[in-house]
Amino acid sequence: MDFETLKAAEHEQLMQTYGRFDVALDHGQGCLLYDLKGNEYLDLTSGIGVNALGHNYKPLVEAISRQAAKMMQASNLFYTVPMVEAAGKLNALAGTKRVFFANSGAEANEGMIKTARKYSWDKYQDPKRLVILTLNNSFHGRTIATLEATGQDHFHANFFPFTGGFDYTPANDIEALKEKLGSGRIAGLMMEMVQGESGVRPLDPEFVAQAAKLCTENDVLLMIDEVQSGIGRTGKFFAYQNYGLNPDLVSCAKGLGGGVPIGAVLAGEKTADVLHAGDHGTTFGGNPLAASAANVVLDTIGDGQFLETVAQNGQYFMDQLKAIDSDRIKDVRGLGLMIGVEVGPEEIMDDLAELRKQGVLALKAGTGTIRLLPPLILDREQIDQAAAAFKEVFA
Ligand code: PLP
Repeated sequence: MDFETLKAAEHEQLMQTYGRFDVALDHGQGCLLYDLKGNEYLDLTSGIGVNALGHNYKPLVEAISRQAAKMMQASNLFYTVPMVEAAGKLNALAGTKRVFFANSGAEANEGMIKTARKYSWDKYQDPKRLVILTLNNSFHGRTIATLEATGQDHFHANFFPFTGGFDYTPANDIEALKEKLGSGRIAGLMMEMVQGESGVRPLDPEFVAQAAKLCTENDVLLMIDEVQSGIGRTGKFFAYQNYGLNPDLVSCAKGLGGGVPIGAVLAGEKTADVLHAGDHGTTFGGNPLAASAANVVLDTIGDGQFLETVAQNGQYFMDQLKAIDSDRIKDVRGLGLMIGVEVGPEEIMDDLAELRKQGVLALKAGTGTIRLLPPLILDREQIDQAAAAFKEVFA
């Protein structure tokens, strides 16, 4: 099918929920992607932080192929080896006790919210103490509950009524947080360590440290949304490990399957035994196909040297971008290979198109930030190539 025919069919056949870039992707190899016409691009998107090991990563392809031939799906009414192995690896990497597998980031967050509410209810039996507090400018997903959890009004419009039981507080404002957490209404505080969707903004370490302390003092669960920032993205396996936290609940997804849909809720000491048989479930959660992919990802990215390289390459990439002499680039920020380049909202879509002309695929975050979420295997030569493309567009 040629590109114009594909585009016309897409407009006719699909709900028009995405503002797609003018490219039809066909296949990839490592950090490179190829469109239908055969044009080559350096992929700084990795399917929005998913293809952490790049495209056509042989051990991943082989593991999935082997498992597909053996058994793709088994109901959670049975034991399966890949899921139990993946859970053990995740707990070891996260410092948590138990895992619940889901299929996406939003679904993992739903599981995390349910666990937090049940913890509070079991312990306090207080219908007023069930609120999940999130930060302004957060992003937690598109289901009704995770949309409500998302601290951005513009996502809420058109989808009322919500379920209730969420409240919001400004990021990096300790006094405001103290007031909310002391109100006796909050079951859990849910945060991204790096607010990704809204503009790639790492939280202030002092705020995070105070938040963790206040949560402990008020028996409010510390719930970290690692859907975008987890699985090695920031140079630690989870972004909260850059902040020295020991969360009560963690959600992750995206990179976990290296391209195969899978999400997970990780429970710490306080929350490991909150959910019992029948309290929660999902048909596909942790199925052998997805779990076999996660096992390769966890074995590869969980390695200390791999993570150290991500941290160093992320710093190198940011240094290269900061060195560009441009009055268009207002800020370069991020953690590891989760990088935001703030250029302002006026011309950002044109900027992304110009980058594509230079052979580089990048994303937008918030209104005026270019978001870079490359495969974690991006090497120095490819970083230089990407920086040269930015220089061409912005210098
Ligand atoms: N949480 C965060 C921090 C995200 O960045 C996203 C997606 O971008 C989600 C949750 C939702 O994940 P999914 O799209 O897999 O449902």
